Amino acid sequence: MSGMLILVPTPIGNLGDISPRAAEALAQADFIAAEDTRVSIKLLNHLGLKKQLISYHEHNKLESGPHILTRLQNGESCALVTDAGTPAISDPGEDLVRLCRENDVPVTAIPGPCAAITALAMSGLPTGRFTFEGFLSVGKRSRREHLQSLLEETRTMIFYEAPHKLLTTLGDMQEAFGPDRPICLCRELTKLHEEAVKTTIGQALAHYQENSPRGEYVLIVGGAAPKVQEAPSMEDCIARVNALRGSGLSMKDAVKQVSKETGIPRNTLYDAALQSGS
Ligand code: SAM
Repeated sequence: MSGMLILVPTPIGNLGDISPRAAEALAQADFIAAEDTRVSIKLLNHLGLKKQLISYHEHNKLESGPHILTRLQNGESCALVTDAGTPAISDPGEDLVRLCRENDVPVTAIPGPCAAITALAMSGLPTGRFTFEGFLSVGKRSRREHLQSLLEETRTMIFYEAPHKLLTTLGDMQEAFGPDRPICLCRELTKLHEEAVKTTIGQALAHYQENSPRGEYVLIVGGAAPKVQEAPSMEDCIARVNALRGSGLSMKDAVKQVSKETGIPRNTLYDAALQSGS
């Protein structure tokens, strides 16, 4: 019988955020696959665990993934950890999970730290509906295309960003969403210098043109205001009545239908249509 792949979330800064269940899963697993073994060894030392650590990351996943799969198929259990937060969220864990699912190897996930959700919760922006956009790509064209696709997005948007790209990203966001769009810049979450600044894209850009960004960022960006449907003009309504009559409806039925479509009272529409000579 196959062993299990266990996604184990790790702290995004504060080591105290490792949960007892996550620590237990690391202790129980036959081996641990880590994005960067040098980072994960510190966590294991903190927990007083000695475990076999193998590496699984963006640049070796094509070889390491099948190797882990074989071990799982042979009945071993594997705990997957990444450098910080929930594996498979904007890191290579996603591919290993897919590989396991495609091969009927059971996968489970332990809930825990995730920078996106932590930042959203503390941002003060609407949390009822949101979209996770991850990292914008490095290529200028694809970054712009990504942002263009979000021009009419009304849900709160979550982006990850590294400090050296923050200024370019804020510039591109200002171009796409305008300077007045609300944004909450969350950095160093759970760490000593944790900061969440709620401002506008324009003000954030001006600030970081003068001060260099430090630390990893989550950007929570307010969604676009929903488009208000403009009420149709009386000319448009009469044109619609005439079009319906042209397609065979009686004046009474055409007025009834347009009244239903627009909410304009039947009598008003009827009088306007007669006055226009319809
Ligand atoms: N899987 C991780 C998670 O669940 O949050 C995310 C991994 S992604 C490779 C790393 C990005 O997460 C960083 O570039 C940054 O945008 C965000 N991040 C991670 N830790 C953070 C922290 N302590 N404060 C702010 N952002 C953080």
